[in-house]
Order: sequence, then C-alpha cells, then structure tokens
Amino acid sequence: MVSSIKLGKIFGIPIGVHYSWFFIFVLLTTMLVRNVFPDHWSNTERIVTAVATSVLFFASVVAHELSHSLVAIKKGIPVARITLFVFGGVAQITKEPTKPGDEVQVAAAGPAMSLLLGGLFLVIYLVFNHINEQLSTLSLWLGFINIQLAVFNLIPGFPLDGGRIFRGITWKLFLTRRLKKITGIAVPTIDGKETANRESLQKATRVASNVGRVIAWLFIGAGLTLFIVDREFSWLWIAFIGWFLENASKQAYSQMRFRNALNGLQAHDVMSSDFVMVAQQTNIKDLVDNFIYLGAHSSFVVSLGQNALGMLSLRDIRSLPKDKWLTTNAGQIMTPVGKLPTVKIDEDAVSVMEKLESTGYSRLLVLENGVVMGIVTHESVQRWLQPRLMLGSQGR
Ligand SMILES: [Zn+2]
Repeated sequence: MVSSIKLGKIFGIPIGVHYSWFFIFVLLTTMLVRNVFPDHWSNTERIVTAVATSVLFFASVVAHELSHSLVAIKKGIPVARITLFVFGGVAQITKEPTKPGDEVQVAAAGPAMSLLLGGLFLVIYLVFNHINEQLSTLSLWLGFINIQLAVFNLIPGFPLDGGRIFRGITWKLFLTRRLKKITGIAVPTIDGKETANRESLQKATRVASNVGRVIAWLFIGAGLTLFIVDREFSWLWIAFIGWFLENASKQAYSQMRFRNALNGLQAHDVMSSDFVMVAQQTNIKDLVDNFIYLGAHSSFVVSLGQNALGMLSLRDIRSLPKDKWLTTNAGQIMTPVGKLPTVKIDEDAVSVMEKLESTGYSRLLVLENGVVMGIVTHESVQRWLQPRLMLGSQGR
C-alpha cells in the first residue's frame, strides 16, 4: 500500500496509516460523541473521551497486528510493515509460513491479543464503574469492541485469521495423509517431503479459499435479505463485509497459484532485458530525444563502462525542469545503485517477487559482479506467468 503515512517503528516494524483510516477516525469519534455517550456529559467531556477512545481503539488494532508480527518474526517469517486502513489493520507478512503449526500460531496470535485486551478493558470498567463515568464508559466500549474484533477475525473465511487457522489445520491433515502414503512405499527424501508439503499447502489453500467464499456469500445473502425485510441500511454492512471477504478469498488463492507457478524459477527467468544503458555524462536532452521519443524505452541503466552506477526513470526526468535538460547529465539525477533493491541472477523467483512487493520499488536490478543482467518488474513477471497460468505449465 503506497498511499500511507509512516508513523514510526515498534520492535523494528514500520507502522503506517493509510489515508482511509483518517476518515474512519473522524467517523468513529463523531459517532461516539453523538450516539454513544450519554446526554448529561458536557461537550468537552464527550469530545475528549471520544478522541481518547478512538486513539485507544487504534492502539488496540496495532496491538492485534503486532501480536501476529512478533510470532511471525519468532518463526523466522519477516514482516515488512503494519498498515492501518479502513477495515482495521494488516501486517504485511511477505512470506508464507513453511509449517502448518507456524501458520496456526501466527494466525491465532492476533485474536488472542484482542481477547486479552477486551478482558483487560472490561476489568478496568468493573473497577472504575462507580468512580469515574468517562473512564468506565470508555473501557466498556473498548472491551466490547476488542472482543468483537477477535470474534470477527475468527470467522473461518480465508484470508481472515480464522480462515488461516482453518487452512493450517487442513494443511496438517493433508500433509500427514500424504506422508503416510509415501512412507508406505519408501523412506521419503527431503525433496519428496518438500513437494508433499508444498502440494498439501496448495490443496489446503484451495479448500480454505472455497470455504471463505461460501461464508462470504452467506454474509452477502443474509445482509441483503435482512435489508429487504427490515429496510434498515445498517444490514447492508453485513453484505458489504461479505463482498470484501469474497474478493479477498479469491485474491489469496490466485496469489498462491502465482507463487506456485514461480516455484523452481530464478531471477533470470522472469527478468526483462528491455532497458538501455546510457553513459553517466549523457545529457538529459539527448536521452529524451534519442531514446525516449525515438526508442520508446522507459528504463535506463546509467553506467560507467560495464558497471552500473544507477537507474533513471521517466519520473526522475519529469521532476527536472525542461530548461535544465541540456545542462544536466544522467549521473546527476539517477538513483544510485546503493539505494536500489538488487537481486542476484540465480536468486529464486519467489524471493525476487517478495522483494518486489516488500521494497515498494517498481523495479529490481539483476546484478552480477556490478554488471546489470536485467530488470525485474511486475510486468516482466506477468509476461512470463500469464500464458503458463492460462495454459498450465506443460509447455515449459
Ligand atoms: Zn488478525
């Protein structure tokens, strides 16, 4: 998610807020002031309590995601960042777990934290019930909302936490059955075990994604029916959540297929050689006239002899005023290699994709001893994958 604002780091994990979150923050605060807090409070009391409640709600969502992230990191699964957006939060875990047990533990950690926080706020409510009305109202609301957060996330629709727990369990069942079958014939090799694990995960993902879609359609059906019968707009929320879940399930499954298609490939399989090398002293006017207008290229590797110094994109050129084109050279406005994400030519394609997704750059340089061998972009990977996903991998 690119359009987010960085808030800082907790335990080394960058926390960001998507713009849509501010809308929810204002909506939530307004709703608390108008509909939730009692009439006999002064305006100041209401606003201050509402803002405090919203901030603590926001902190609760971060705690939920942080809980997933810390367990993931403990299991050796890197977490790129945590982003808060309209539906709550998401911890961008850029790798799939390799063991079913890890999947279950990472997935369960979030709802467990929400339940814990829910309980904690309810205890605060009980303690301050007749002592401080603002504090007790705030705690009661946060107690319930955290428990709701846990319950909603535990719905067994993939890719919600509950769906991930379900996938982990299904994965374990498929894997145990497969291994039993293999060991009936011979002792499985490490390769054999890995294949069994990968195929079990793929099967479990398909099952979990289908269950997720069924649950999503039940939500949509129930929401629409209740809306038609009851004529109350709030029922549409249930249908809307169903629609969101349906999309997410479908997407999670196609991402899995995508990863599987990349399995066994290396950076050189998915890179593109469609880039132009330009010497660092080439001036921008020359570059635009000869390579962009005439050559229709858009990625430039700035070099000194065979060695890559940096990269230049159309965006870099656009940010330079036109009257400076003649007096500026490529080396002056390029992004230096040290600041660019790079991969090795034989790096496996799944990890290349993970880098492409987690770094936020649209291009990765494939380098070998300082020489550029190619560029990996979303398009270059797509170009490779599209026919194989459509026709199957037989033609390879
Ligand atoms: Zn969660």
